[in-house]
Formats: sequence, C-alpha cells, structure tokens
Amino acid sequence: MSVNTKLYEGKAKILYTTDDPEVLLADFKDDATAFNAQKRGSIQGKGGINCTISSHLFEQLAAYGIKTHFIDCPAPNQMRVRAVKILPLEVVVRNIAAGSLCQQTGLQIGTVLRQPLVEFYYKDDQLGDPLLTRDRLRLLKLATEEQVDSIIHLALQINDFLQKFWQQCGITLVDFKLEFGVDSQQQLLLADEISPDTCRLWDIAETDPNRRVMDKDRFRRDLGNVENAYQEVLQRVLQVVENQNYSKVLSPES
Ligand code: 5GP
Repeated sequence: MSVNTKLYEGKAKILYTTDDPEVLLADFKDDATAFNAQKRGSIQGKGGINCTISSHLFEQLAAYGIKTHFIDCPAPNQMRVRAVKILPLEVVVRNIAAGSLCQQTGLQIGTVLRQPLVEFYYKDDQLGDPLLTRDRLRLLKLATEEQVDSIIHLALQINDFLQKFWQQCGITLVDFKLEFGVDSQQQLLLADEISPDTCRLWDIAETDPNRRVMDKDRFRRDLGNVENAYQEVLQRVLQVVENQNYSKVLSPES
C-alpha cells in the first residue's frame, strides 16, 4: 500500500496509510451527523477542536496507565495513530441519565446513577447500533470474554480519570462513548476519539437544561451556538492541561 492512500472514510474522520504499516493518519472532519446520519451538517472548526481535545486526553490517559492508539498530532486536525482492528462495539459509560437511557427506561434526565453504567452497543449503522447483552456479544463473537472483561475494567478506569479531568474544566461528565481496537501484537488499545462529539458535557455553572449543554447535543437538538460551545470546551481543556500535571496527581499508583 502506498503512502497516504485513503484507507477509510467515516462520518467524522478519514484514515490514511503512512510509510509505516503500523501507523495510520486520521484526518478529523468538520462534518457532523446525528441520528444514524439522518441529520447532517457541519460544525466550523470541529475537526481541529476534537483532534486537539482528544490528543490531550489520550496523552493524559497514557500517563494514567491506559494504552491508547495515539502517537502525535502533525497538524491541529490530524492525528497519527497505531493501526488497530477496531472491535465493532460502542462502549458507553454513563454517570447521569440522559439520551437513549432516558428514552428506553423512562428515567428522568439528570438522574445521578448510583454507580457508573457500562453498556455495549453493536457498531452497525444498518442495524441502528442496537444495545447488546453479554450473551448477544458472545453469540455474535464480537469480542472474546477476556476482551469484554478488560474493556469493562478499562472503561471504568477511564471514567474515573475523565470525571476528575472534566470537573477541573468546570464540566460534568454525563456520559461518553469509547471504541477499542487490537494491534498487530494483539494488544487492546483505546481508539477513536474523546471529544464533545462523543461525550455529554454539562457546564457545572449552568442549571438551565439547554444552556448547560456543551457537546454534540447542541447540534442534535438544534440548540444553537454549537461552534462556541466546542471552542469553550477546547479553551477550558487547554487551560487545565497548562496549569496542572494530571498524570502525577491522578495516577492509580499514588
Ligand atoms: P446515547 O446512547 O444516550 O445516545 O449516547 C450515549 C453517549 O455516547 C453520548 O455521549 C453520545 O454522544 C455517545 N454516542 C453514542 N453513540 C454514538 C455515536 O454513534 N457517535 C458519537 N459521536 N457518539 C455516540
């Protein structure tokens, strides 16, 4: 395969090969989709913002002991990553009831969950990313038992870290989606991105249910000021990263 061949184009990113078969280049797009791509649009500057936020979070998670696919950022909207085979799973961690959890269970939005909920969804647009049970995961052989156990453990560790990180930004981490991949050495790595596209983020200082939203729900629900919200999240992340060395403070060994 030649250098910089387009390998795959998704809804939010384009993946290119590089001269190293173990390394891919992810180009983050400004395109935005929601509701299984039934709603389409663009959020100006989103690619650079999401790539920059994700790269800082991946760096900090690596320092916290979480293995990720992140290598570096050659440009604000480009990330070099370890080549992995993505498991066809969307791993969602929830701290507060919102979104599909409320729609499917009747729980009131904003209900604080007694303990984080880790859920698996089948990453399949044609099927509409359905919620999976562990038995269905096993039936479809989407991951090994060992991988599922590791993912649950990692997802909870990542949640512990991210909750504290976002709190330092003045933001409540409501829920988020993770993806994992397996590299050529069969190592399980955190992949994809962690950004306002993949997390529900509520401004701690705001109680108004619409004004507090700082994530892709502004686009999904036509709340307006989408670009401003993404920019504000980036500025807060940059400030926290500059001011503190989280890897030492929040290390599991400390
Ligand atoms: P829900 O299941 O409530 O729609 O989503 C739960 C969390 O996972 C939200 O933070 C949402 O942003 C994220 N999430 C779930 N599925 C997707 C997806 O297909 N794409 C993106 N960008 N985020 C998702």
